[in-house]
Amino acid sequence: MKLMREKAVLLDKQDKLQPFRNEFYLQEGQIYLDGNSLGLLSKRAEKSTLDLLNSWKIHGIDGWTEGENPWFTLSETLGVQSAHLVGAKKSEVIVTGSITTNLHQMIASFYQPAQSKPAILADELNFPSDIYAVQSQLELKGFDPALHLKKVISHDGQTLELCEIKKAITEDVGLILLPSVLYRSGQLLPMKEIVEFAHKKDIIVGFDLAHSIGAVPHELHNWGVDFAVWCNYKYVNSGPGGTGGLYVHERHHGKMPGLKGWFGSEKEKQFDMDHAFTPSNGAGAYQIGTPHILSSAPLLGSLSMFEEAGIEGIRKKSLKQTDYLIELLEEHVPSYGLKLVTPKSLNERGGHIALEHPSAASICKALKHYNVIPDFRAPNLIRLAPAALYTSYADIFDAVMILKKIMKDKEYERFQNTRNVIA
Ligand SMILES: *Cc1c(COP(=O)(O)O)cnc(C)c1O
Repeated sequence: MKLMREKAVLLDKQDKLQPFRNEFYLQEGQIYLDGNSLGLLSKRAEKSTLDLLNSWKIHGIDGWTEGENPWFTLSETLGVQSAHLVGAKKSEVIVTGSITTNLHQMIASFYQPAQSKPAILADELNFPSDIYAVQSQLELKGFDPALHLKKVISHDGQTLELCEIKKAITEDVGLILLPSVLYRSGQLLPMKEIVEFAHKKDIIVGFDLAHSIGAVPHELHNWGVDFAVWCNYKYVNSGPGGTGGLYVHERHHGKMPGLKGWFGSEKEKQFDMDHAFTPSNGAGAYQIGTPHILSSAPLLGSLSMFEEAGIEGIRKKSLKQTDYLIELLEEHVPSYGLKLVTPKSLNERGGHIALEHPSAASICKALKHYNVIPDFRAPNLIRLAPAALYTSYADIFDAVMILKKIMKDKEYERFQNTRNVIA
């Protein structure tokens, strides 16, 4: 056992990203594996937030145009800083809104139902809020979600097959919304192939990058993806309610957004206070109201770490860590009914792994009792996410040993198998 832990410690010593761990606020004695739900605070994100508060303190109203990071262009500045994470041109990204509000904006802008193509295609495993947004956008355009919201079916209840996705891309579909990485199983979808296939049929394709941004590299521009949305509070560590982001391919720039608001204006024109709206010539056009400056501030610090670490290196470590985690689970917790539902193939795996168990809720509570922070998804899923910037191999080893003890002695049976308010 001691030898095995030494291997984890050695992996940490060899890890080039290891120094970033010291920049995060990790709680003494705790193993945090929930960075795919809410990433931890870093010292840089804390500093950029305090700096921003200070600019308010000093400049008052003039903070919009003065100081190190003028608020008037902060969303654009952060869009430029985020572009490498999604593989986009600088003008194709803006930091704004949340996933759900950005989805409303994207669908309002891109779903222009022609008589022959009224359907929107999503999938039956998607996150509820994404589905709600699609439902209301269909209803707003006079369509019935029961008939016009189509969903790719899943055979195993956890993953989607490319052939099923293709089968569902029928001639009546006008817009496709799929996740990059499925929020439950952690399956990574072949975005490039999906776009290629759908564009041959003249269908708009958008992705929700909630579970891939900050963990997986993207090439949205080269793949020709039409639009994408994401949040920054998961792997990008921008804090609870941190401002999200969106991408729109440059071939769509200059069009009128579905939902207009003054912060989507051409910057030069915004304060003319003209009732005729002139959209910005980039992703910025899809902003609506005054940006959430205080909720964007942590990103300044956080994104600087991603720039330094590089998303390719982060992905490499992330895969190595989930491989290590899977290997340890297979070796130490092979029985006890825990079933890995995440694809093992590297090009189908996002940043987290998921285990199915009928007592998943109790197991998560038992893990928390031992200061291991997992993520529970009803009714029976345990998600474990090593975050490359701050999770160590020793963390992963220790967490699996604790899980083993909980399973072997059935310690989880002491905890109620019901979910708490949040997960
Ligand atoms: C986290 C998450 C959301 C949350 O949406 P918000 O509008 O940011 O609250 C939506 N969809 C998916 C797939 C998610 O993982």
